[in-house]
Amino acid sequence: MFNKKKKIVIAIDGFSSCGKSTFAKAIAARLGYIFIDTGAMYRSVTLYALEHGAIQNGIVDEDALVALLDDITITFRFNPMRGASDIYVNGDLVEGKIRTIEISNLVSPVSSIGKVREKLVAMQQQMGASRGVVMDGRDIGTVVFPDAELKIFMTADPKVRAERRYAELTAKGDKVSFDEILENVVSRDHADMNRAISPLRQAEDAIVLDNSHMTVEQQMEWFDNQYRRVIDNL
Ligand code: C5P
Repeated sequence: MFNKKKKIVIAIDGFSSCGKSTFAKAIAARLGYIFIDTGAMYRSVTLYALEHGAIQNGIVDEDALVALLDDITITFRFNPMRGASDIYVNGDLVEGKIRTIEISNLVSPVSSIGKVREKLVAMQQQMGASRGVVMDGRDIGTVVFPDAELKIFMTADPKVRAERRYAELTAKGDKVSFDEILENVVSRDHADMNRAISPLRQAEDAIVLDNSHMTVEQQMEWFDNQYRRVIDNL
């Protein structure tokens, strides 16, 4: 269907709980690309910090966390059951532990620390060095791969986003309230957009996808047109 010989970098940035990972995963499967969920990397560092005393009573001890960074090795391993890679910290599978509301509430202050970003951005650049990757996050098109051939900025109504996240968490049995989720979505967006280092913003050459009222199939159709336009012009 497509000319798949030319491998590109597809950068997907946007607000919390917009379905970036679902979208990115579907694209990667379509193109035979590697999918990298960079939010999972920030979440994993947050989990490690929490389990090793660098976050106490909801407060992040920046010096203690930075001192731990060299002890953290993050790896991805493809899981055919999920059709995506699972994330491991020092060999331990942490997929299930990083997507809780507790981690969601702590990840923004952790991701605002310069040394944390330095380490993770370097890893991400290395993972995408041969191109053929779909990477989702907050700063992919602006900082990690400013030369990405296709940049997509995803957004959706905050209430729709909170509803999706609520359905996801309650389906796995987490005891959460809708208001708590909505509060997390809104406050995380605010923190991510207003941090000093690599804030969330739309790259000038990014195209916007508002998926508030779109099915995954409609998003794929939209994507195919964008991808074709880019690949035909290379
Ligand atoms: O995408 P996800 O919601 O899992 O990301 C969790 C958090 O990680 C974000 O709210 C943001 O603080 C941080 N993040 C980031 N830069 C990225 C990806 C995620 O700062 N590239």
